[in-house]
Amino acid sequence: MRVALPVPIDRLFDYRVPAAHEDEVVPGTRVRVRFAGQEVSGLVVPKDLVTCEDSLVAEDSTRELSEIDAVIDEEPVVSEAMMRILAEAAREIYSPIGLALAHARPPGSTPRTARPYALTPRGERALAQRALGADALGGDAFPLLTRLADKPLTLGALSKAFPRIDVSGRLASLVADGLIERRFERRGPTARIPMERIALIAPDIDAHAASESELARAPRQAALLRQLAAAKDGIATRWLTKRDSNVGSHLRSLAARGFIVFEERPRLGATETVLDGGGEVTLTSDQADVLVPIRDSIKRQIDQVFLLHGVTGSGKTEVYLRAVAEALSRGRQALVLVPEITLTHQIVARVRARFGDQVAVLHSGLKPGERLAQWERLRTGQTNIAVGARSALFAPLENLGLIVIDEEHDGAYKNDEGFRYHARELARKRAEDASCPLILGSATPSLESRYSAERGEITRLSLPRRVGGRPLPAVEIIDLGREKDKNPRGRKLILSKPLRGAIEAALDDGGQTILFLNRRGFSTRVFCFQCGHAERCDDCDVALVFHSAEYQLRCHYCDLVRAVPEECSGCGDPETALLGVGTERLEEEVSSLFPKARVMRLDRDLASKRGHTESVLRGLKNEDVDIVIGTQMVAKGHDFPGVQLVGVIAADIGLHLPDFRAAERTFQLLTQVAGRAGRAERPGRVVIQTFVPDHYALAPVATHDYEGFYREEILHREALGYPPFGQLTRTVVHAEDEEATRLAAQTLARAARALIHDGARLEVLGPAPAPIARLRGRHRAMLLFKGTDEALLRRVTEATLAAAKRLPREVQVALDARPVNML
Ligand code: ADP
Ligand code: ZN
Repeated sequence: MRVALPVPIDRLFDYRVPAAHEDEVVPGTRVRVRFAGQEVSGLVVPKDLVTCEDSLVAEDSTRELSEIDAVIDEEPVVSEAMMRILAEAAREIYSPIGLALAHARPPGSTPRTARPYALTPRGERALAQRALGADALGGDAFPLLTRLADKPLTLGALSKAFPRIDVSGRLASLVADGLIERRFERRGPTARIPMERIALIAPDIDAHAASESELARAPRQAALLRQLAAAKDGIATRWLTKRDSNVGSHLRSLAARGFIVFEERPRLGATETVLDGGGEVTLTSDQADVLVPIRDSIKRQIDQVFLLHGVTGSGKTEVYLRAVAEALSRGRQALVLVPEITLTHQIVARVRARFGDQVAVLHSGLKPGERLAQWERLRTGQTNIAVGARSALFAPLENLGLIVIDEEHDGAYKNDEGFRYHARELARKRAEDASCPLILGSATPSLESRYSAERGEITRLSLPRRVGGRPLPAVEIIDLGREKDKNPRGRKLILSKPLRGAIEAALDDGGQTILFLNRRGFSTRVFCFQCGHAERCDDCDVALVFHSAEYQLRCHYCDLVRAVPEECSGCGDPETALLGVGTERLEEEVSSLFPKARVMRLDRDLASKRGHTESVLRGLKNEDVDIVIGTQMVAKGHDFPGVQLVGVIAADIGLHLPDFRAAERTFQLLTQVAGRAGRAERPGRVVIQTFVPDHYALAPVATHDYEGFYREEILHREALGYPPFGQLTRTVVHAEDEEATRLAAQTLARAARALIHDGARLEVLGPAPAPIARLRGRHRAMLLFKGTDEALLRRVTEATLAAAKRLPREVQVALDARPVNML
């Protein structure tokens, strides 16, 4: 029997099954086995899940197979289709297969199993004979057998009960004599499924007729019966008793009279059913148009991929809801993915409002038992819609009719550890397997998806207008290079004149302002706030990184080294070349310019303080703060009707990250930030400060011109061979020792370069320090493979991984075949 184990080794393992359990051990069930001296739970896989050509270590026929300890599940808990999808994905991205398959197992800890000893029929006979006086049992055996006649017990329990006997030796000889045997026993799940009692109207009962006849003198019972008649799936008794503690006795008498019945059902986490807001609206003509091909694919069961490209507020969510309804009406299930469940309450609430109890919301706040309950309901088809973050992809929907990925461009869809899958790619595989459409929705599609639509691989559908003709927010771009106003110390003001004016106006109006400073990785970037100049690598087109220890600049892609300029090479400013601007300095300036305003700051340093983030968000919500200064934490997901102005302090900063997606990220982030302003009746205003007002990632934010941005960015990608044109593979080597890290990275680079011939359509870049060159006390070096020859890329990657196995133990290697996070 072949088993996948959750260990970072790229192979499957063979175990022996005791004859008694042969029938139970089918693919998709879990078993408990010994591995490297540890007890682990593995997943039984089909024998042919991966073949030898898939470069897994082949069967080791010389090894004596060990026996499994226990069978955990009575029936398969993972479908064969899911196992095949994950095995294929693991192979594509070079992930250890066991780590990939581990994602599909039911949530919560594995149920405990035990191997107690029990009497065999022969043992029972022997015991009976002894009772009749015929003593065939020697010495200590009798008390042991008597104890086991009561119930099966484990070695541990018996040793405790008979401290003076050599229990283990005795048991072994009793097994050998065939008097007792060892059994497998499941001790119930550790994550117990919480149940609740549901009251339902009994079949064929007419509540109104009953109210007027038998229940005429019991008005409370009659009312209760009518309430239950109205609830199709019954009502949990805990909800009823919450409102009226006498309900219990009324329910009992209704049940006694045969009007109602009770049922035990798994209790779901936090299901306050939203009753209002579920009403349907009339579709706009744009929405109706895009739904035609989507419904058609659902109906005809075609695994078509749609890119639903719609500006913020264009009604994408309504399209998802209608598509979900279509899948349900055809008896199929739907999966809706969102980037981060805590930041996307709105869409979750809307799915709930529309579909009520049909929805399982899979979020990290669920207790293990609740999560398991949701999982079981989906697997058995009692619940038909799963909503969740990327891990919801593994939900056991056996009858999938639709997958939706909202905000498909979001980096949160990529898993950055272990099995480094991208939800978009796995969703495609699931859709293909289930023969159902996949909708990728976004206001700012990823370059990959947009390009794929351009090539006709996926179908682009567009919603170019906001619902109800509401205008998109007004976005102004301010050129910081033309700002001359100085503070008393002679430094340039951080807030430009137009932004100061806008804050003033918002304050006068009683509106709130968010000032957004994207400071990520800031101190290591050479960015001059006086003129906006940043040092870049000409070859790789990414920002150079300042290394304080060696006091020099380096390219973190190709390892070019440059001296730190004495003064800003853009404007000659002697001081700020390395400093840029921080939130503290901004707060100082805001407070001195607007002394009466109530100002709060939210950045990473402060966010770690207990309760601080909540108090800032509360301040925004209750409108008892005027100006909030924050980093990207304030940009995402929150909706505050009082926010009238969003100011972006230095849009350039995001452009100067050593990441080939820096422009794309900046455009997406700013478009999203702009969407924050003026959600309520008041029109919103957005002011973006920058030194490069004409930059192709910034100017189109103001004109809401995604296409303009896309056309420019795709040229850059093509020129440098970055995705979606070439593939990029990223390998990070890390160790505590700097020299060991460097040597190991060089070893891998040599192994990779050995396969590169002249004219190959593949480059090996580096090794260079990783953009985050030190993390948790470990030095990090990075190696990139970039090119269009996929077969060669595979060979080079495999050679690198093989070389990685021979590195010293203290060095670790993390390979990401399709990286999203480049830092
Ligand atoms: P998106 O997901 O594209 O940002 P939403 O689906 O949230 O857009 O729609 C924006 C707003 O318009 C929401 O308040 C939604 O309820 C409303 N809306 C969507 N479709 C319609 C429609 N056909 N008629 C009226 N209002 C609609
Ligand atoms: Zn470079």
